[in-house]
Amino acid sequence: MYGKNAWKKYSGNNLNELMQFNEEYKDFISLCKTERECVSYSIKLLEQNGYKDINSFDTLKAGDKVYATNMGKNICAFIIGKEPIENGINVLGAHIDSPRIDIKQNPLYEKNDMALLDTHYYGGIVKYQWVTRPLAIHGVVCKKDGTTVNISIGEADSDPVFCITDLLPHLAADKNSKPGNKVIEGEDLDVTIGHMPLEDTEKNAVRAVVLKLLKEIYNIEEEDFVSSELEIVPEGKARDLGFDRSMIMGYGHDDRVCAYTSLRAILDSEVCDRTICAWLVDKEEIGSVGATGAHSKWFENLLAELINKQTSYNDLKLRHALTNTKMLSSDVSAGVDPLYPQVFEDKNAAHLGCGITFNKYTGSRGKSGCNDASPEYMAQIRQIMDSNEIYYQTAELGKVDVGGGGTIAYILGNYNMNVIDAGIPVLSMHAPCEVVSKVDVYEAYLAYKAFVKEMK
Ligand code: MN
Ligand code: MN
Repeated sequence: MYGKNAWKKYSGNNLNELMQFNEEYKDFISLCKTERECVSYSIKLLEQNGYKDINSFDTLKAGDKVYATNMGKNICAFIIGKEPIENGINVLGAHIDSPRIDIKQNPLYEKNDMALLDTHYYGGIVKYQWVTRPLAIHGVVCKKDGTTVNISIGEADSDPVFCITDLLPHLAADKNSKPGNKVIEGEDLDVTIGHMPLEDTEKNAVRAVVLKLLKEIYNIEEEDFVSSELEIVPEGKARDLGFDRSMIMGYGHDDRVCAYTSLRAILDSEVCDRTICAWLVDKEEIGSVGATGAHSKWFENLLAELINKQTSYNDLKLRHALTNTKMLSSDVSAGVDPLYPQVFEDKNAAHLGCGITFNKYTGSRGKSGCNDASPEYMAQIRQIMDSNEIYYQTAELGKVDVGGGGTIAYILGNYNMNVIDAGIPVLSMHAPCEVVSKVDVYEAYLAYKAFVKEMK
């Protein structure tokens, strides 16, 4: 069903199912605020549903439920199909990193009797949105003895929170006359973490008390920050938005909403002719770089492993598998905001409530940097959507020449794979709290399930 409001489809039982699914999604984004937390949660869900680590299989046969992880920040879940992997697999690829503020490697300092952590933002944030709100710290500190301390503070009612302060309007005349991208600058995003001085300490007494507490609570020293990865994120749970509870407001919908729906699509599927896969990847927000980004060889290596365990490996089988693979790059779209309609071309824009959104291309200017999916592939997808009565729409990222952006689609396109962006429209994308419609979340889940089952 193309370009129509999807809420019409829901009343009674299927509305209850939609709402229940969204409750489960809210739990996921409320608990999972880093890549590592998403991977740990996914492992738990997968193991509860009979999936096993790939290393526990010597051989693979149709119906095997397998997962693999990479450095704690990527996970792939597969149901092995009846056909050889060489024939290609059906993949849902989403990212589990979200824009945030990272703590620097040498972060701690004291100024004017306050203790602060120096930070470096991650991804495309609008900096002024992140000040004067309660923040939590999630992440890991890896120690020289090989142990890892997991940190999550700011979420429980009894936890303290942290914040980035801002200037009072009475004294902000100069500051507030700056353009929006200069009102708060990168080095102004330091986080306040304490201010009670330690007795009997003359210099840096506030800093000293923070270090004492870090030692007491986590058994970490100041130098341990050097091998830490700590992320500052908005505290608190995702919440229903609106009197009708039709939407969800929460941190990290981009792209955990597509990650969760993709993972659930695999979890709730049966064995198919083709092998089916959900791939949750890191580093999309900073260009898909490094060992855990989509540019990494990890996914290709993993397919080689699967081929080896299913039949026997040779390089040509791997090349065939990659080129015959069909993929949805499960990533969010920019929903039309009624406050800012001027940046959208309405009939080629994503509307909240009209279901999963396909972006044939993203990119900037003359489609620069995009993966322009083939119309033959789009036609196959239309057939699957319509025969399963799934509500879907097509969109571009804003009006021509207004801006632009990208996803992981072009990276897999380089393997000669058919791939298209397909995700959920979001309002306030990249803000500390983003907004999605519950009906789009559920329609995307149904669309992903139909895609992995029926794509040839
Ligand atoms: Mn995204
Ligand atoms: Mn993004």
